[in-house]
Amino acid sequence: MCTNKWESDEEIQYFREYLRIPSVHPDPDYKPCVEFLRRQAKQIGLPLKVFYPANDQNPVVILTWEGLQPELPSILLNSHMDVVPVFPENWSHPPFGADIDEEGRIFARGTQDMKSVGMQHLAAIRALKKNGSKFKRTIHISFVADEEMGGRYGMRPFVPTDDFRALNVGFAMDEGLASPNEAFPLFYGERAVWRVYFNISGSAGHGSLLLPNTAGEKLNYIVGKMMEFRKTQVQRLQNNPELVIGDVTTINLTKVSGGVQSNVVPPLLMVAFDCRLALDLDIEEFEANLHKWCDDVGGGIEITYEQKQPKVPPTAIDNSNPFWVAFKKATDELKLSINPEIFTGGTDSRYIRAVGIPALGFSPMNKTPVLLHDHDEFIQADIYLRGIQIFKKIISNVANV
Ligand SMILES: [Zn+2]
Repeated sequence: MCTNKWESDEEIQYFREYLRIPSVHPDPDYKPCVEFLRRQAKQIGLPLKVFYPANDQNPVVILTWEGLQPELPSILLNSHMDVVPVFPENWSHPPFGADIDEEGRIFARGTQDMKSVGMQHLAAIRALKKNGSKFKRTIHISFVADEEMGGRYGMRPFVPTDDFRALNVGFAMDEGLASPNEAFPLFYGERAVWRVYFNISGSAGHGSLLLPNTAGEKLNYIVGKMMEFRKTQVQRLQNNPELVIGDVTTINLTKVSGGVQSNVVPPLLMVAFDCRLALDLDIEEFEANLHKWCDDVGGGIEITYEQKQPKVPPTAIDNSNPFWVAFKKATDELKLSINPEIFTGGTDSRYIRAVGIPALGFSPMNKTPVLLHDHDEFIQADIYLRGIQIFKKIISNVANV
């Protein structure tokens, strides 16, 4: 029988138990997660509440540790319970087996994104509570559903509820990303996601003619304008090595459809773009340009949006934000190198920031290849355990602001 020094660690055991729950899309069953968290709450000695902001398949689980001054705005430690699908044939270990190999690598979907962080939050709280720590602020540890589908049934509908307001959150922490080197990325903002559809009408007719005002010509013009703009952003990235992808606007042509048959000029063509609007982009001007290009090419184009997120201001990372100061002090004392960045994708933090609550995205996983949503997702056990120590320090600091 293969045993190793990590298997007997209590926190590693809890973590692996949570990883073995297949709360996986497209149809995650969260009931075993809720039951697991109930047992955790009981073990730690904290009250637990379950809310259903969207429907009874999608719970929000919250454990609460009341502070010495419960009237102060609280700290929210958030994670999501859902994970993205797996292709088991591409894995060298069962994706919900949580195997540990001889190097201490724990393999399972969710080891990075983000059952690790949720369990590190709980483990840090367990340790702090056990050693008799007391904090000024109340700490809520939340576990939400549906983040991987954009939070439709999770954080997005939860934030506008009275139940969320009653938590009186003053500062939130949520997921970040692993980092293959020594430094830890820290995310303080996100770009606005727009999925833009151009529904282009034009003169229809026989493919043998040269009709004016065809949908094809208009599509060509719109694609050209979007690609010109895309090129300016590629150049910005190339010209300034300080910039990372989250700092610029990304534009990608993602869908084209339409047409009747190849010898008929079609009355309608559709082209869609995935756009992630950088925080320094003038969104009104960008939108006005989209409409101007449609007018310039002769009109008859309807713009629709599958997603059109507002610009959400980033969380301040300077002395104006006492929670940032407390966070930074903790990571400085631990001698961690922290790289503040704008997140490339989207997380639940955006719904929290959108109502004016500062939020930082941080997953304490350095020296780890970035494998979220990939095959053979893993975290090394010592990195995981070190993350608990890091959270203990950060939580102690921010909960005493
Ligand atoms: Zn995630």
